Amino acid sequence: MSTINIDILIIGAGPAGLACAKILAEQVRKVLGLERRQEIGPKVCAGGITQDGLLRQLPAELIERSFCEQHIFTSLQQTVVQEPEPVIATVSRRALGQWMAERARLAGAEILTGVKVDSIEGLRVIAAGSSGNRTFTCSQLVGADGANSLVRRSLGIPAAHRGPGINFQVPARTCEQMEWHLDTRAFGCGYAWIFPHKDTVSVGAYSPQTEMSAGRLKRGLLRWAAGRGFELDELACQAALINYDYRGYSFSPVWLAGDAAGLSSGLTGEGIYPAVVSGETIARRILDPRSSESPIIELVKKQRLHRRVTDISARNSTCAFLLMELLMLMLRFKLVSFHALEMAPSPQQQ
Ligand SMILES: Cc1cc2nc3c(=O)[nH]c(=O)nc-3n(C[C@H](O)[C@H](O)[C@H](O)COP(=O)(O)OP(=O)(O)OC[C@H]3O[C@@H](n4cnc5c(N)ncnc54)[C@H](O)[C@@H]3O)c2cc1C
Repeated sequence: MSTINIDILIIGAGPAGLACAKILAEQVRKVLGLERRQEIGPKVCAGGITQDGLLRQLPAELIERSFCEQHIFTSLQQTVVQEPEPVIATVSRRALGQWMAERARLAGAEILTGVKVDSIEGLRVIAAGSSGNRTFTCSQLVGADGANSLVRRSLGIPAAHRGPGINFQVPARTCEQMEWHLDTRAFGCGYAWIFPHKDTVSVGAYSPQTEMSAGRLKRGLLRWAAGRGFELDELACQAALINYDYRGYSFSPVWLAGDAAGLSSGLTGEGIYPAVVSGETIARRILDPRSSESPIIELVKKQRLHRRVTDISARNSTCAFLLMELLMLMLRFKLVSFHALEMAPSPQQQ
């Protein structure tokens, strides 16, 4: 088995890996990305991006629907958060991934698809693809391989705080509202969403409770959705974990980005923006170790705040219920802004 030596190896071509690859390749660094799937992009996801996060950075043709209003429901209350500009928009993960991959490749990055990394020992990586097993060695290794990151495991870092997310993409259904349902009976300290896309609607649920199985969450979601006229039983159910157990990103010369680093929000499950920001920041720090790490530091501040709220509400069902109702009261009386629920810095911090 021949060994391929590469300057920088990135495992995973999701938003984190692709954002990292583009910046490195722009600076003429030899960078190779390995992606186990044949096609870049598709991922279990509701496809929500926020105005303060990525919405402003993406071309209009990637935006499927955008919403100035957010309809939020708890067991006892409901409210509509309204802003002059769209607060959240939806994108297709396939289209987002293809667009990011094209930009990374145009910058000079090489990305191999259908290549699954099977083992990692330090900076030596063994991967399997259609042409058999290959060994890679590198001087810098970026783990952008998602919530079940092998790179993270190779560093001996556990991921104890991961919650299941479930998504159904409902075809041909007219739906005009973006909705959040903080229903503690069905979803504990998680929530369900209805996110309209161009020709489909994403109906799903997330729970930060590590002991909540995807099966239990799915049963709660099916019952809840049927009550709203969504018959999901016949549709393909997709499930994946969201990792919010952040324990650092720099283990130089090994780095962790996005879900591999546990940078998603434990409260909302938002992870695309943290993936892009951490991928870009890592690339800049590989290029120049003196470059600022503040984008990741800002992310971590918000992530820790979300984590504290999540930890309190996960204690028991009464805590979850009281916290959801309190959060709703604060949103209704504008004591807290909807932007506090987003991972991007709030407008006043930017
Ligand atoms: C149901 C659900 C709904 C969600 N909704 C939203 C939302 O609306 N908005 C939002 O911001 N976030 C959402 N998220 C979270 C979001 O999808 C992730 O946080 C985000 O995709 C993380 O990006 P990433 O690049 O770190 O990892 P990923 O997108 O998971 O990419 C990792 C890549 O690595 C590849 N890979 C993994 N292992 C290997 C290996 N051994 N060898 C080679 N390749 C490998 C994978 O195939 C994948 O392409 C949702 C998550 C779930 C589960």
